[in-house]
Amino acid sequence: MTLTMPPASATPSDLPFGTPRVTGPLPGPRSAELLARQEQRESNARVYPRHFPFAIAEAAGSFIRDLDGNVFIDFLAGAGVLSFGHNHPELVAAATEQMGLFTHGLDMPTPAKDAFTSAQLAMLPAGMRDHMKIQFCGPTGANAVDAAIKLAKTATGRGDIIAFSGGFHGTTHAGMALTGNVSMKRPIANGMPGVHFFPFSCGGVPRDVDPTTWDTTAVALLEQALTDPNGGIPLPAAVIMEMVQGEGGVNPASREFAQRVRRLTRELDIPLIVDEVQTGCGRTGTWFAFEQYDIEPDVIVASKALSGMGLPVAIIIYHEKLDVWAPGAHTGTFRGNQLAFAAGTKAVELIHRDDILGNVRARGTQVQTRLQALTDNPVVVEVRGRGLMWGIELTAPGDGRTAGELAEQVQALALRAGLILELGGRDDRVVRMLPPLNVTERVMDTALSILLTAIEDARAEFRR
Ligand code: PMP
Repeated sequence: MTLTMPPASATPSDLPFGTPRVTGPLPGPRSAELLARQEQRESNARVYPRHFPFAIAEAAGSFIRDLDGNVFIDFLAGAGVLSFGHNHPELVAAATEQMGLFTHGLDMPTPAKDAFTSAQLAMLPAGMRDHMKIQFCGPTGANAVDAAIKLAKTATGRGDIIAFSGGFHGTTHAGMALTGNVSMKRPIANGMPGVHFFPFSCGGVPRDVDPTTWDTTAVALLEQALTDPNGGIPLPAAVIMEMVQGEGGVNPASREFAQRVRRLTRELDIPLIVDEVQTGCGRTGTWFAFEQYDIEPDVIVASKALSGMGLPVAIIIYHEKLDVWAPGAHTGTFRGNQLAFAAGTKAVELIHRDDILGNVRARGTQVQTRLQALTDNPVVVEVRGRGLMWGIELTAPGDGRTAGELAEQVQALALRAGLILELGGRDDRVVRMLPPLNVTERVMDTALSILLTAIEDARAEFRR
């Protein structure tokens, strides 16, 4: 098969392989061969190929082409990593140039790292820039979460952590301990102790509770527990939260919830860690999602989209008063990915030059407007989102299928029509979109048409 090279111009076509199309059964024969070999040789833990049964041949912009020539709009975007889509030519050029100079630098200073550091710190709200320090972690979100927790424990001398139900912070031992999903913890004995879960602003609302005031009830429970001398929880080392829970099903914190958590943690001198691994780097329409809440975290965790093109890098940015680490207290061999630094610096430049945040907001409005069509749909509980992070929560259609099964059918039907979507939330009943942040109006329009048709067809399927 001849591969199409990504266009070399600064403004690549938004349809590099033409419109989305799936021409035969999935998987096609060439993909099936690789999937079979993968199944034979790779771990049972692999997950995406179970939902997306094809092998990737090439990708460009918002599109992926599989080995059998099928073309998909990729609204998973490497799990929110590919903020500029696949192979953005200017990011590729920046990384390629760096590759010839120097690639791996531990935590030594280099011009590439210095420029990346300046670019990242400059993206902080003005009032935070002068007192925040940056730390380069091992190159995954979970490693940076781990660093944030260890830092807070070290700085406070305390051992307990508050996390929120529905939250997701990774699948390492520490990340998993902080994550709401219970089934993933069940087979693993001796998880990290000292984590206390409190209800989040949105999602998992108990029966018999008014959902419209749930956020204030939820935060009041936390306030009470941490200030009640009989509340049962020692003063914790940290509170960790996402501003919009991603894997948890696109659950945005309400403004009041977030501000009260911030006020409480400040009053009690508890470091507030905001996990921006998924929401960061422009995903919600501001560089960091916390900016929309007028709060300042003590520790920010960022990773996924930092390089804009999937080159691994993870950081924590934290108040300098917390900088009590001993040298070498949190190391990691892969803290110095110079290619990621070069691409990440270029990505920040493009965010400004191409008004990517403006596009995120405009496309977000486009999604919101178009998905209003779902308001009266009996299988749709709610459409939630910020910027280019959207979720459609489904409910059981009343024909024997669960909400999770219905969501899986929506995902499968969308894939057949050439759109890759993610699932999330409790029982995977939320259909999620994480498009590239530079997605065009035309591609978004096509994707939304496929999505709306898939929901209608999945709903009708049982009756046929
Ligand atoms: N935190 C959040 C909010 C995430 O969404 C994720 C990944 N989905 C992680 C942490 C873990 O990141 P990684 O998979 O790179 O370890």
